[in-house]
Amino acid sequence: MFYRCKNCGGNVTYHPEKKKMICESCGSEESQQEIPQKKIHICSNCGGQIETTEYTLACRCPYCQTFHILEDRMEGEYRPRLLLPFCLDRHHAAEKLRETFAGKMFLPSNFCAASSLESMEGIYVPFWMYDFHSHIYFEGEGDRVRTWREGDYEVTETRVYRLIRDFEVDYDKIPVDASVAMEDGMMDLLEPYQYGELDDFTPEYLSGFQADIYEQNSETLRPRAEEKADGFSEGYLAEENAGYAMVRPFTDRKENRVEDSFFAFLPVWKYIYRYNGKEYPFYVNGQTGKVIGVPPVSLARVFGMSAALFAVIFFFLKMLCYLLEVL
Ligand SMILES: [Zn+2]
Ligand SMILES: [Zn+2]
Repeated sequence: MFYRCKNCGGNVTYHPEKKKMICESCGSEESQQEIPQKKIHICSNCGGQIETTEYTLACRCPYCQTFHILEDRMEGEYRPRLLLPFCLDRHHAAEKLRETFAGKMFLPSNFCAASSLESMEGIYVPFWMYDFHSHIYFEGEGDRVRTWREGDYEVTETRVYRLIRDFEVDYDKIPVDASVAMEDGMMDLLEPYQYGELDDFTPEYLSGFQADIYEQNSETLRPRAEEKADGFSEGYLAEENAGYAMVRPFTDRKENRVEDSFFAFLPVWKYIYRYNGKEYPFYVNGQTGKVIGVPPVSLARVFGMSAALFAVIFFFLKMLCYLLEVL
């Protein structure tokens, strides 16, 4: 399906900064009418075949550029419960990219050029979120050491304490990236997101963006969420045991019970920069503007700089010779 403008027939998409549905052609606000898919994965605007993978949920018609949401992929367990709407539009995401790399040396001259930034895509990345009730039980020994001088002697006193830590923590919405298409670890780098702004899912939010349904289910990804929870629990435990010079654990048990898990979408702007036949991906957190990516080094600029430097050195050497000759 897609959203057609009642006034002009244009495509109505979600505008992140106005937080409204806006017609791309006439600028009307909230003028959308839902046009369902007549035939599966055929554009109901122009009749063209929509290119999809088995995970595509929202995409653009390659012929008429209308943004579609494939309603047959949005049913049952594939319907996300929550979504974090984009806060940054394409223009502001591009600005964040430019700002981040503005001072970098040896960047290719067309990096972040307006024309290549046009290809930036807003993507909703599928996530599983887990609520855990965790029980942490720790038993061990801790040393407290005191040293002082008595005449010619240095006295060291070591007191050994028995440590028992038994506490419970409730974790809320621990996120794990459920898309295989995103590079591993990239989403962890793009965090944090302000999860307080998660909203109930409605398909309007997807209009104007790309989205895939999840490729890995909740059970498959649960160990990764538990790993994150255990990491936080370890932090709390370390705080509790911070006053001891040495800690020897006997029992260190963390049990995580899943209270709830649900499918959600998080917003990312993706920019692929092509340089010397290679692709350099950049990602901008669609909510906070945090930028991740490593730009290529322009050899032409490195050589240009070295040549300039060489010319300067050569000039000074020349001057020095000249001065020596004069003397
Ligand atoms: Zn319109
Ligand atoms: Zn079309």
